[in-house]
Amino acid sequence: MRWLFLAIVCALWACVRPAPTPLVTPPPSYAGPIIDTHFHLEPGYGGPSLQETLRGLDEIRARGGVATAGLIVIAQQGDLEFTRSENDRAVELARASGGRFFAFGSVHPMDGDAALAELERIAALGVRGLKLHPNTQQFDVAAPEVERVVQRAAELGLAILFDAYSPFDPGQTGKLVKLALAHPSARFILAHMGGPRFFDMAVFGLLNAHPKAFQRNVWLELSAVSHMVAGSPSLTEQLRHTCRFVGVDRVLFGSDYPALTPEQAVADVHALGFDASEERLIFHDNAAALFGLPSSPPNPSSPLMRESAAGHAR
Ligand SMILES: [Zn+2]
Repeated sequence: MRWLFLAIVCALWACVRPAPTPLVTPPPSYAGPIIDTHFHLEPGYGGPSLQETLRGLDEIRARGGVATAGLIVIAQQGDLEFTRSENDRAVELARASGGRFFAFGSVHPMDGDAALAELERIAALGVRGLKLHPNTQQFDVAAPEVERVVQRAAELGLAILFDAYSPFDPGQTGKLVKLALAHPSARFILAHMGGPRFFDMAVFGLLNAHPKAFQRNVWLELSAVSHMVAGSPSLTEQLRHTCRFVGVDRVLFGSDYPALTPEQAVADVHALGFDASEERLIFHDNAAALFGLPSSPPNPSSPLMRESAAGHAR
């Protein structure tokens, strides 16, 4: 009788015991050099000397594992003295950094001819991009003055980083689409990827099917939006899908420091679930190509780097 009882207990246990947990291998994660395309240099930030300011910025950059960061300043309308001094500060810090920082200058589109003159001045000083912020600078993306600045920046070879989320202008993505189509030689970076409206950016994926009309001159930058979706598997999946639909070769990493620390932003992008080769494009290769940055020294401890070195050897 006892053996019968044991047999019944074993049979029941076989029914209710949990299935053995399959071994979960996390996707390989990119561990090479990182380029942060969105790192604010706020007015008044820093110590009394350029070197002290640079030391502070370097500490923040390095703590996040960032090899190179694009320093951003924002121009104020009608205050050309302020605009010029902020642009000069970003350029000087970038020069003194020996390649650890590069500079985005800024102008205010409504400053008209003075904005165009400042654009030419900062291009000659070696900035690699122009920052425009429709919310902070309070301009409409569809204004003709914005088109003039965009066209001149394109002629000067400067990428244009737009803050691309406005809670006050629900039609902003459409205006940015029009601008990108009307100025095929300009290169646009859309920061925050539309924020909570990130799926609107899928329109650029649709436009990929029309290569005569759309030159793929738009890059999407992940700051804030990757933090917004963190912790939600469904939103994370939607963001990853949107990036893949547009093309992961058009996606950039940015922290938007000081809104988020680079280490938080890096963790948020790792959590999006891209594979290692996609992460390599997002964290490094796309920005290096877009800004013409010299290749950062590879990190020999990274498995991806070892793999890539072995590939080159073959
Ligand atoms: Zn920003």
